Amino acid sequence: MANIKKIKPFEEPIYVARPFMPPLDEYVRGLEEIWGNRWLTNNGPVLQRYTKEMRDFLDLENIAMFNNGTLALQIGLQGLGISGEVITTPFSFVATTHALHWNKIRPVFCDIEPDHYTIDPEKVEAAVTPWTTAILAVHVFGYPCNLDALADIARRYNLKLIYDAAHAFGVKIDGKSIAQYGDLTMFSFHATKLYHSLEGGMLTFQNPSLKTEVDYLKNFGFKNEVEVVMPGTNAKMNEMQALMGLTMLKYVPQLIEKRRAITELYREQLQSIPGIHLPPLLSDEIDYNYAYFPIEIDEQEFRISRDQLYKKLKEYNIFTRRYFYPLICDFACYRNVPVADPLKTARRVAKRILTLPIYYDLALEDVQKLCDIIIEMRR
Ligand SMILES: *Cc1c(COP(=O)(O)O)cnc(C)c1O
Repeated sequence: MANIKKIKPFEEPIYVARPFMPPLDEYVRGLEEIWGNRWLTNNGPVLQRYTKEMRDFLDLENIAMFNNGTLALQIGLQGLGISGEVITTPFSFVATTHALHWNKIRPVFCDIEPDHYTIDPEKVEAAVTPWTTAILAVHVFGYPCNLDALADIARRYNLKLIYDAAHAFGVKIDGKSIAQYGDLTMFSFHATKLYHSLEGGMLTFQNPSLKTEVDYLKNFGFKNEVEVVMPGTNAKMNEMQALMGLTMLKYVPQLIEKRRAITELYREQLQSIPGIHLPPLLSDEIDYNYAYFPIEIDEQEFRISRDQLYKKLKEYNIFTRRYFYPLICDFACYRNVPVADPLKTARRVAKRILTLPIYYDLALEDVQKLCDIIIEMRR
C-alpha cells in the first residue's frame, strides 16, 4: 500500500516456462554422429539408444516413442480399442479431449478434487454408463491422481485406465515411476514441459502385446516392406528429437532439484498472504517433479481478481498463465457435448487459478522479486 509501485518491472520478460538447453557441445557431438549415419528417422540408432536408456530410467519394459504426446495418446487409445464413452477431466490441456475426439469417442466430463485438481473418483463412479469403456485421467501439474481409487473403479466396472502424464515426467510413488500405474500412460516431451525432446511423446503400458500394435500405428501400419496391416499414421520420433531427449535425460534430477528450490521459496513467501491459496503439500510417499506452481486467488480476500492480477503482472514483464481456463468443455468445439455434472469445483478453480513462472534458469532472486510484486498488488 504505502510502497505501491516501488518495485521496478523486470527488464527481460519472465515467462511461465522456458526450456532447459543442455550444453551445446554435447548435442553437437550427437549431431556429428547423425550426420555420419545419414539415418534421420524410422527407428534410427539414436532413438534405439534413447529408448533403451529410457527403459532403465523408468525401470519399465513396455515403452514406445512418438513425435509428440498428442499423437501418442491418440494411438494409445486406438491400440487399446477404446470406443463409446470415456470419462475424463475438463481441467486439462485441450489435447486430452482432442485425442478422444480423433478416435470418435464421446468425452464425459466429470469434476475434479479441490486440493490437487485431479479427477474426483466419486464423480467418476457416478458417471459410469453401459457405454463407458475407459477412464482418461490427468496427473495435472504433475500431481498424481487418486491411483488406488481409480484402479478400484476400473476393476469393478471393467474399464481401461489411461493416464495423461504430460506433466508428470519424473514423478515417483513409493520409489516407483508414475508410468507404472494404469493400463496406459502418455508423456509429453514438448519444449515447454519439465523435460523435453524438442517435441516428443511416449507411451508406457502394462500389456506387452500393445507394443507391436502402436509401433505399426505410428508408422503407417507397415509390418514389413510389403505388408500394411492397418491404416496407421505418421507419428515417429526422429533422430534429432531422440538426441535431445537422450542428452537431457541425465539432467532430470538437477532440473527437478532447481524447481524444488523455486517452489519452496514461492511457498515460504506466499503461504501467509490473505487471498492466496496454495495446494496442500503432497504425501510423503510421492516424489514430486515440481513441474508447475499453481496458486488460487480469492478475489474477496486478495482484493483484486485473478484476471486483474494476471494483467497487472504483465506490466511488470511477468507472463503467468491461467492453466486451465477456460475448461475444455467450454471451448467452442466441445460446447455441444452434454455435461451432466455441474463441475462445481472445476469451475471455481478455473476462475481462480494462476500458474507462476517456474523453470531451470529462473534465478531465486527473481522469484523473490516476483513474490514481492505479487504481495504489493494486494490492495
Ligand atoms: C502438453 C500436453 C499435451 C500434449 O502434448 P504434446 O506433446 O504437446 O502433443 C497433452 N496433455 C497435457 C495435459 C499437456 O499438458
